[in-house]
Amino acid sequence: MLEFSQAGAAVGAASATLEKTRTLAAYFRTLTEEDLRRAAVYMSGRAFPPSRRRTLGLGWSTLSKVVSSVSRRDEQELGRIFRKHSDLGDWAGEALDGSTQPAPMTLQDVEATLEAIRNARGNAKAAPLEAMLRRMDPESARFFIKIISGEMRIGLSEGLVEAAIAEAFGVPITQVKRLHLVTGDIGETAARCKRGEFEASTITLFQPVRFMLASPVETPNEVFERMGADKVWTEEKYDGVRCQMHRQASRVELFSRDLKETTAAFPELIEAAPSIGHDVLFDAEVLAHRDGRVLRFFELQRRLGRKQVDPELRREVPVVLVIFDLLWLDGRTLLDEPLTTRRKLLEGLGLEHPYLLARLEEATDPDHLDRIFAETRARGNEGLMVKDPLSPYTPGRRGLAWLKLKRPLATLDVVVTAVEWGHGKRRGVLSDYTFAVRDTSNGRLVNVGKAYTGLTDAEIAEFTKRFLDMTIEDRGHVRLVRPEVVLEVAFDSIQHSGRHLSGYALRFPRIVRIREDKPVEEIDTLERVAELYDRYFGERSEVPLSEVAET
Ligand code: AMP
Repeated sequence: MLEFSQAGAAVGAASATLEKTRTLAAYFRTLTEEDLRRAAVYMSGRAFPPSRRRTLGLGWSTLSKVVSSVSRRDEQELGRIFRKHSDLGDWAGEALDGSTQPAPMTLQDVEATLEAIRNARGNAKAAPLEAMLRRMDPESARFFIKIISGEMRIGLSEGLVEAAIAEAFGVPITQVKRLHLVTGDIGETAARCKRGEFEASTITLFQPVRFMLASPVETPNEVFERMGADKVWTEEKYDGVRCQMHRQASRVELFSRDLKETTAAFPELIEAAPSIGHDVLFDAEVLAHRDGRVLRFFELQRRLGRKQVDPELRREVPVVLVIFDLLWLDGRTLLDEPLTTRRKLLEGLGLEHPYLLARLEEATDPDHLDRIFAETRARGNEGLMVKDPLSPYTPGRRGLAWLKLKRPLATLDVVVTAVEWGHGKRRGVLSDYTFAVRDTSNGRLVNVGKAYTGLTDAEIAEFTKRFLDMTIEDRGHVRLVRPEVVLEVAFDSIQHSGRHLSGYALRFPRIVRIREDKPVEEIDTLERVAELYDRYFGERSEVPLSEVAET
């Protein structure tokens, strides 16, 4: 730990970027693989690799109590020292100077202490922290606290850590960056460069791989033009959450779109893993699915982000994994194989519930694609994923090999009933518009959403003046206005909502245009909203999963 801290201090002291990189590279070269992994993560100002969804949960009050107890300094004195530095690490370093009994400390000890702090609850977090600080020299303590506080403040960005790894092991920086993109973990990236395994296309199981992303397109013609393929594959665009599943023997882990571990949230996907019969890495979507029907996203939301799922919730909202890609199979990395090969291997696994396959169809021209799109829409889906069957899997990229074909389901003509003062860039203008449709049963206007986007700054400025004149009630932050401004809004979906009197809320509404031409009497009705809801977002009538999947 002392070497780590000295290297950190030298990096902090160097003013030129090149010198910082060199200093760090020289330090990296001295380390074993395991320590290199740790050092690269810590130098990036993190206590844990990003893929391990871990936080210390250590607050300022525990930290200051511990530093006060070890240094035998009172709050006032500690406050005075802090004001001198305005940096937690520098503060702790000075406060503890002379009051510890330093013993040699390794990065492994640091890791073990961070784990112990994380695992302890509440006040119990203080004990491992205190035991560690008592045995640290001030310089190590300074850097240990910097790691804990998540800020090194030595002028190191993750980019510079990448550059240092490149320099240390003689690997081109572009390779390091690519590797980092694949692994999403600077420690793993460093370890691979040291081992000389900088070929970006090997996968280490349980190190999440960045997800491949899709670019949006609006029309079937555009799909063929941009992809430049004579036939394309289509899959349903499922409305769930992205999930990567890693399985090797009895170990199974799940990762979310931002590469956080989410294993605990979906126990049914873990318990069924023995049925897979192979070691695998799937790219997939988790869906709420009961009695052969896909449940709405709204239901799935209840299952997200949980550390424990109670049996009742599991019964109410069971989940399945709809798999659309296979990146690794029994020791073989498949990233560079064409999608056709990956899909064939995937189908060959003969998966069973709760593992299903994405429904796949081939389209050979824009008309054909348009028909498939219309069918998927009739089934209540928002869109299609279109994939180039010959494409490799490119982690972290939003390229043209995967496209998402989405058109707004419908737009609604609504009237603005209230406006709010904006924040940040929108400070001083009325920028958030609450809007309503008409309930024809009683002629009243009922709100169905609030839109922030779609207008230019000039339009917003102009409308601010108009809305000020149209105000019927000024509630400070919010102004109720005469319902006269008609807007056309697009949206992603409709949800049931208790927030509005209408009982509905549009999800992600955006203003398409201002309908100066349309009188308020002609805006859309609550019946129309209900009809769209039933058609597209109510209990789904058909299950858009692969036939292959259910066998
Ligand atoms: P978007 O969130 O609009 O950028 O769309 C991309 C997301 O669609 C992905 O991150 C997945 O979570 C989701 N998705 C649904 N179905 C598929 C599919 N068949 N292939 C790839 N991604 C899918």
